[in-house]
Amino acid sequence: MFLTTPDRFVIDVDDARWALPQGGTGSGAGVGVVNRYRFAPREGGVARLVLDLAAPSRLARQERVGGDQPSLVFDLAANTPLGAPAPVQAPGRNPGPRVVVIDAGHGGRDPGAIGATGVLEKDVVLDAALQLRQALRARGYHVALTRDSDRFVPLEERVRFARAQGGDLFISLHADSHTNSESRGAAVYTLSERGASRAQGLIAAQDWDLDLGEAPHDAAVGDILVDLTQRETTNRSAQFAQALLPRLGQVSPLLSNSHRNAGFFVLLAPDVPAVLVETGFLSNAADERRLADPRARAAMAEAMAGAVDSYFSGQQLYAARA
Ligand SMILES: [Zn+2]
Repeated sequence: MFLTTPDRFVIDVDDARWALPQGGTGSGAGVGVVNRYRFAPREGGVARLVLDLAAPSRLARQERVGGDQPSLVFDLAANTPLGAPAPVQAPGRNPGPRVVVIDAGHGGRDPGAIGATGVLEKDVVLDAALQLRQALRARGYHVALTRDSDRFVPLEERVRFARAQGGDLFISLHADSHTNSESRGAAVYTLSERGASRAQGLIAAQDWDLDLGEAPHDAAVGDILVDLTQRETTNRSAQFAQALLPRLGQVSPLLSNSHRNAGFFVLLAPDVPAVLVETGFLSNAADERRLADPRARAAMAEAMAGAVDSYFSGQQLYAARA
């Protein structure tokens, strides 16, 4: 339920108690429209979670997700009126630290590409994701992983997760494979125009509620807004790809024409800038050796974290000039 003065969102769970590392009572910093969260037990066995909000908000989505690790997802969106000077998608919309969502490809029953010596894509990209998380946390980012263990996560859930986390940037990590064992080097993919139109179909099909504030219920206007959001997101994804490639090139070979457009499903969230990094080819002996080397993966994580810094500082310059 929403309460006002101050604005907050309260979740009461009957017959439950908090079992967290901090104990039964605690609090912490929020992200997006959430300034802070607090949790404590109430009388009658009720566990209460309070989200202190930066602005009057509405519940954009409420849903139970996940199989073996089920979770309740509440998506809150600020009631920013349309036409206000700073649209919801403006850089710097989150008062807290930037949120980077890292997506280690495949996992569990899906091994992904398999190298000649048996190196599995799902293993190298998981380790690369964990190293990148460490490098980003050291730089003060809030980091969320779509998986931090060897488990299968459906593609759609990865996209939903990125949106539910209020991700400012989504980085999906993969390793490629090709019938030509000479193919080698890293590449960065962003959403193609065709992929973007697929995203629109997906939104229509799933009724995704975009972070557009008090969007009019007129379908035509809604489509235009989605289109603008998508185009802006695609631009920003390309900006990050341009920051990322030269840095990746310092620590690994690059595939020729290394910034590519594609319609990968995980890139389809319409409002989260996203790239998919193919870290190399497991079908190439030199790349397989490189990807299997934890030091090489650490160097890649550092390179990517540096690109994240550069991307966000570029946005700040842009916002200051606008
Ligand atoms: Zn893959």
